[in-house]
Amino acid sequence: MKTLTTLAVAVALSLSGSLYASADQETDRSHDPAASNAKSAQHGDNQHVELGDDDVLATSNDITLAAKVLAGQLTDDEHVIEVRYDDAGHVWAVVLGGYCESENDCVQYTRQLSLDAHDHDADKAGGSSLGGAPLQGGNLIDAVAALPSVHMAHVVIQAQVEPFRGNQSALAGDADVMRVQSGLNAKGISTTVDGWYGNGTTSAYATWQRRLGYTGLDATGIPGPSSLAALGQNRFVLTNKITVGSKTTFSGKRVNTRTRSMLREAERLFGRSITVTQGSYNAGGVGASAGTHDGGGAVDISVSSLSETQRWQLVRALRKVGFAAWYRTAIPGTWAAHIHAIAIGDTDMSLSARNQVADYYVGRNGLAGHGADNTPSAYRVPFTWWEKY
Ligand SMILES: [Zn+2]
Repeated sequence: MKTLTTLAVAVALSLSGSLYASADQETDRSHDPAASNAKSAQHGDNQHVELGDDDVLATSNDITLAAKVLAGQLTDDEHVIEVRYDDAGHVWAVVLGGYCESENDCVQYTRQLSLDAHDHDADKAGGSSLGGAPLQGGNLIDAVAALPSVHMAHVVIQAQVEPFRGNQSALAGDADVMRVQSGLNAKGISTTVDGWYGNGTTSAYATWQRRLGYTGLDATGIPGPSSLAALGQNRFVLTNKITVGSKTTFSGKRVNTRTRSMLREAERLFGRSITVTQGSYNAGGVGASAGTHDGGGAVDISVSSLSETQRWQLVRALRKVGFAAWYRTAIPGTWAAHIHAIAIGDTDMSLSARNQVADYYVGRNGLAGHGADNTPSAYRVPFTWWEKY
């Protein structure tokens, strides 16, 4: 049974450049959840800063290298998910710990790698990966090729489109799906390795999630960051991860932080504020929603103050940032006119919402009859998702 621990992104760095001594690193290796929580306090003498996005090394080579270098230091419950560096040129790994109650609620903390990028500034300016920098030991470079990468977003998008609609090879990522399928087989969960994330793979993946202790929305067969990282240990490293974040609100309705970010950007594009009338994680809340709002990523948006043209413009803005969005005209006794939208790629979405994403992908309306999308062509945009946008 997993232990519930609050999300703690402990990014602890010293601006001085003299970072943790080895004794501190020993502290970091403690995997007792309580000790992990206490870590920040223990390092209270250091100057702590939170690294910005500019400090993230996101290439698969960097992460592969980090995973390889750290391999001997990680426990079975730890996975390198990101690599960062500080102004002193020290390289850090962001580690996803094993103390997760849900797929999206794992403890994260940093650990300094046992290597430095000697020519860090030049490397940064050149935009190249650490794999090309003169690291300690030539065999580290050789190790880069040892573990393949898996593009998490490609896997998740295919997991949401393909079960209902068949293999969509136009969505990049069949090789990523095949690595996941091979990983499931290696765990003794049989599924065909064909790059098609169909119902068989969905079922096999749900088995994997249940084996990790997940239930409900965390065990639908749609991969989340924690189960994928666990599956990939010593097999592949994750890139382009999707993190839906914790539950929050938007105009008073419950959504996750990823959905909130998407709504804020859609507001900016639209140029007017958005009012959500039904949010996410609302199981049983509205019968007419048929379970699409049970999980993450689902919102209904008020259109009562908008002209007909503005309603379509809002649909377009939502689609641009990665929602499967439709303008629903009023059905007396069922619903008022509104826009229903599902955040494509949300790893918490319900399976009925997933089926709507699949409908959207092929130009359908996401309703029970799977009719044609009635959105005028001027308000359609190419299929996309938030991380791609
Ligand atoms: Zn809805």
